[in-house]
Amino acid sequence: MYHIKTDSEEQTQTVAERLAQYLNPKDVITLDGDLGAGKTTFTKGLAKGLGVKRTVNSPTYTIIKEYKGTVPFYHMDVYRLEDSDEDIGFDEYFNGDGISVVEWSSFIQEFLPEERLEVTIHKTSESEREFVLNPIGKRFEKICEELINE
Ligand code: ADP
Ligand code: MG
Repeated sequence: MYHIKTDSEEQTQTVAERLAQYLNPKDVITLDGDLGAGKTTFTKGLAKGLGVKRTVNSPTYTIIKEYKGTVPFYHMDVYRLEDSDEDIGFDEYFNGDGISVVEWSSFIQEFLPEERLEVTIHKTSESEREFVLNPIGKRFEKICEELINE
């Protein structure tokens, strides 16, 4: 587990933007934490780091939004799939040409790929957040090492 603390929205976006530099197509980042923790904020940073020019908003009503960056960027918010075991074709995204980020990933646990970077966000004060990174697989282990030591 790797821990990163931020004390502003901008700092959170910068951390995510740095992480983006290490990512390749088929990488999956999961984001869990309460409403207002900073999942979408982190996603905006990732998108920026991947060269997405459009504004990234929470895709609550569509579940999946696709953006064009240096590679395709799939932003999922699966909050509405709580208590459902519906598979909306996750594999095609996770094994596709792009990078996926999943807000509320615990609701689709059974569809997540084996290797992924799990990010859990804790709100420790109004402006402070603690990010706990749990890399699953050697590739994400290495990415976390590099990110932390950058
Ligand atoms: P979620 O997607 O987890 O529901 P959002 O990213 O939409 O959360 O909202 C996070 C809110 O918390 C935003 O209003 C943001 O300005 C605020 N915030 C305050 N401090 C931070 C921080 N350090 N990192 C991220 N967001 C922060
Ligand atoms: Mg959100």
